[in-house]
Amino acid sequence: VKQQALHQELFFVPAMDAQLAQAYSLEQDLHRAINHQEFILNYQPKVDLHDGSVSSAESLIRWLHPTLGLVSPAKFIPIAESSGLILPITRWVLNEACMQAMHWQLEFSRPIKVAVNISGTHFQSGDILSDVQQALSNSGLAPHLLELEITENIMMDDFNAVLTTLEQLSELGVLLSIDDFGTGYSSLKYLQHLPVNRIKIDQSFVKNIINNAGNAVITKSVIAMSHQFGFSVVAEGVETSDELNFLLQIGCDTIQGYYFSKPLPVEKFDCLLASNRSL
Ligand code: C2E
Ligand code: CA
Ligand code: CA
Ligand code: CA
Repeated sequence: VKQQALHQELFFVPAMDAQLAQAYSLEQDLHRAINHQEFILNYQPKVDLHDGSVSSAESLIRWLHPTLGLVSPAKFIPIAESSGLILPITRWVLNEACMQAMHWQLEFSRPIKVAVNISGTHFQSGDILSDVQQALSNSGLAPHLLELEITENIMMDDFNAVLTTLEQLSELGVLLSIDDFGTGYSSLKYLQHLPVNRIKIDQSFVKNIINNAGNAVITKSVIAMSHQFGFSVVAEGVETSDELNFLLQIGCDTIQGYYFSKPLPVEKFDCLLASNRSL
């Protein structure tokens, strides 16, 4: 037994230590990343299915780490959330995205909305209302051109507190979307009370929508229900023309996905807008 324990210590513990050590060192690096300008934003177009035009852009953060190269947000956002660093990171994203949308409006003489992902932690431990107001006043962007993407999971916490904040944001005039809809803590009974404008159907439902009868039923139902509540619907992760045509048939309002475009660095997004490409 002693021998076994020794082996475990030799083989398993170091592996765990390595993982912890990596998370710890990423956290240290994150502290430095903001001031050293290691973050950039990519923008993925959302296409309006009523007229085929690019109506808005989701900002997606990228971390260009000095030695590790590109680190995926799936890897560092959870570390940023648990360490509290998500607050200054999101403030940076909000400011950057709002300035960018202001620039598009001036340069292309048409309003392009910009969407920013907001973590649940920002509702618990941050002051999301004041951070949003600050980004709007710094950039001069009209509130209705800023969209905040939040997940259903924020409703798991103090629902009344979250609702109050969402109502304040809504009164400010910014748009609110429920991201990854259908994957989180399901709160259908709360949906009718939320001051949200859009529902984003998660990509896992859009995937194989043609061959997977269950996904098709769920997507159709979410669209019908959302429209009843007065929400518009975005389908995420649209990759093929078959998926697009199906979504068109069932009354989806907006699509986002590789079929039209991957997330783009800002110079490429500018080219896309300049070309006036539509669906
Ligand atoms: P999300 O908000 O659900 O963003 C959509 C993700 O799907 C993005 O991954 C996007 O690149 C990817 N995607 C878009 N179209 C397609 C498609 O057609 N097929 C496939 N397979 N994927 C597609 P990304 O950029 O790696 O971001 C992953 C997640 O990281 C985001 O999921 C979001 O939860 C988080 N994230 C990204 N940027 C930020 C940020 O600035 N703040 C916060 N809090 N979270 C962020
Ligand atoms: Ca999102
Ligand atoms: Ca999503
Ligand atoms: Ca997601």
